[in-house]
Amino acid sequence: GDFSIDQKRYLEGFVSGAKAVQITRGAVPASPSAPAIAAEPTGPDAAGLKAMARFEAQGKKLTPEEKGKREELGLDAYPRMKTAAQEGVFPKGPDVFRWKFHGLFHVAPAQDSFMCRLRIPNGILTHWQFRGVADIAAAHGGNYSDVTTRANLQIREIPATDGIAVLEKLVDLGLTAKGSGADNIRNVTGTPTAGIDTQELLDTRPLAKEWHHYILNTRDMYGLPRKFNVAFDGAGTVGALEDTNDIGFQAVEVKDGFGVAPGVWLRLALGGITGHKDFARDTGIVVRPEEATEVAAAIVRAFIDTGDRTDRKKARLKYVLDAMGFDGFLALVEKKLGRPFTRLPAEAVAPRAEADRLAHLGVHAQKQPGLNYIGVGLPVGRMSVEQMHGLADIAARLGDGDIRLTVWQNLLISGVADADVAQVCTAVAALGLSTQATPLQAGLVACTGSKGCRFAAADTKGTARAILAHCEERVALDDPVNIHVTGCHNSCAQHYIGDIGLIGARVAINDDGDTVDGYHLLVGGGFGADAAIARELYRDVKAEDAPMVVERLLKSWLAHREEGEA
Ligand code: SF4
Repeated sequence: GDFSIDQKRYLEGFVSGAKAVQITRGAVPASPSAPAIAAEPTGPDAAGLKAMARFEAQGKKLTPEEKGKREELGLDAYPRMKTAAQEGVFPKGPDVFRWKFHGLFHVAPAQDSFMCRLRIPNGILTHWQFRGVADIAAAHGGNYSDVTTRANLQIREIPATDGIAVLEKLVDLGLTAKGSGADNIRNVTGTPTAGIDTQELLDTRPLAKEWHHYILNTRDMYGLPRKFNVAFDGAGTVGALEDTNDIGFQAVEVKDGFGVAPGVWLRLALGGITGHKDFARDTGIVVRPEEATEVAAAIVRAFIDTGDRTDRKKARLKYVLDAMGFDGFLALVEKKLGRPFTRLPAEAVAPRAEADRLAHLGVHAQKQPGLNYIGVGLPVGRMSVEQMHGLADIAARLGDGDIRLTVWQNLLISGVADADVAQVCTAVAALGLSTQATPLQAGLVACTGSKGCRFAAADTKGTARAILAHCEERVALDDPVNIHVTGCHNSCAQHYIGDIGLIGARVAINDDGDTVDGYHLLVGGGFGADAAIARELYRDVKAEDAPMVVERLLKSWLAHREEGEA
C-alpha cells in the first residue's frame, strides 16, 4: 500500500520481466486539466523584497530576473505552465526563467524543446526510479538521459505538450525537479560511496536528504539572488568536489583536547565557484552533523540579505564574501543562527584521507565484507534508454538495488557479491559500456554543449568523445589525467579544475567573420588536496584540432615530467 500505481507497475514489470509501462509520446498529461482558478501571482518572501528595495533605494537597477521574481515567483507559475502545456506552447520572456523553478528549461535555439533537470539527493536513486526515468525519457524525451556534473540526471528533447507530464510522472516515482534551475539551491551532492566506503568518516546520505527535503518544503529557500550549491563530503574514496560549492561540508575528525567533544564534525568551507576561479575556503568553523541543515539555512538567509541583485555576474556568494570579508558575513550568519559558531585551529583536526581519482570506475571492495561496488563509465555522461533499462536490471538482480551517480558523470552499482562481480562486468559490457578504469576516461567530463545548450560555443560532448578516442589509441598513460570540456564561461564542466581544461570559443577562419567550433585550452588545474586554478596555454584551437593538441600535450608531459610529477 506504500507505492503509487506507477511504482507498482515498474516493480511488477521488473518482477515479471515484462515491459513495465507503455506510454505514448505527447499523450495525456499526467493529470487531466488545469485548475479553473489560477493561483495569484506572488513574489519572494519579505527578506527578498527588502533586499531588492535596498538596491533600488540606492538608485541601482534590478536585473530583469529580479524584476521577474518580484512580479511572480516561478514556484507559483505551475497552473500557467499547465495551461501552456495543454496549448502546446513554450514559455516566452520572463516565463522561460520561471519555468526553470520547476526544472523545465526551454533550450532553444540549440533544441526547440524542454530539458528537464531532476534533483537526486546524494546522487543515489533506486533501480526502479532509474528505470522509471528511462521510461519517461522514452515516452516524452529523446530516448536518452545525461548524468550531470552534480551527480544528477537530465532528460532532453521534451516537446512543449509533455513538460508537465514529465514533472508529474517524476513525482509518481518519488523524484522531483523542483528548484533544479533558476536562482535556487541546486541538486545536493554527497559522497557517492556513502555508507559503503572503506575510508569514509561519515555517511552523507541522511545529511543530503535532510537538506534536500528542507529546501523543497521551505519557501524562502527559492528565488535567491542567484543559484547556490551545497555539497557534503564524507571523506570517502570517491570525492564529492565539495570545494567547488558555495557551501562545502567536509567530514573531519576533531582531536581530543581542544575544548569540544572529539569525533566526527563537519568543517565549513564557503564561496566555491570555480568558473570564477575560486574554491570554497575553509572558515575555521566546525559544525555537528546534526546542525548542518540549520547552519546551511542560516547561510542561505544571510546570502538572501546580502547578495547582489543588479549584476548577475556578481550575484554569487563569493562576491558577498569578497565584499564583506568572511568575518563580516559569518557574524551575520551567527545572528541568524542565534548562537556563535565553534571555531577550531587547523591542528585540532586530523588530516583527512585523500580521495582516489580512479575509485569511481571499476570494481572496489565495500566496507561490508564480501560486497563490492562497480563503477560504470558513461562517456560524457550519456546513456540510451536501453542502457538505462539494462543497468536497472543489473542493479536489481545482482546489486543492492541502488544506482549511485557521481560528479564524474558516471554511476556505481553497489552491493555486488564477490561471486557476482564477473557477471556484472559482462552484463555491463553487453550494454556497450565499460567497467574498466582508464586514466583518460576516468577524468573526462563535458557539459551539454551546442547540441543542447544555447550558450555553448562548441559541441563539447562531441569534442570530448573525439579526444578520448584519439588519445586512448595513441597515448599510454600511467596516471589519471582530468580533461574538462566546457562550452562557455558558465563552466558547468569546471574547466578551471581540469589537468587540461577546454572552454568553448568561436574561432575565426577568415576575415569575413566566419567562425568554427573551437576552444581556449588551459592546463594545471586540480581539486581537493591538489586544488589549483588552471592557466591558459593556447587560445583559439579549432575543435577538429583539439584531439591532436591534447595528444601532443600528453606526450610532452610524459616525455619531460620529473619522477612522480603530476
Ligand atoms: Fe551550457 Fe555553458 Fe553550461 Fe556548457 S557550460 S552547459 S555551454 S551553460
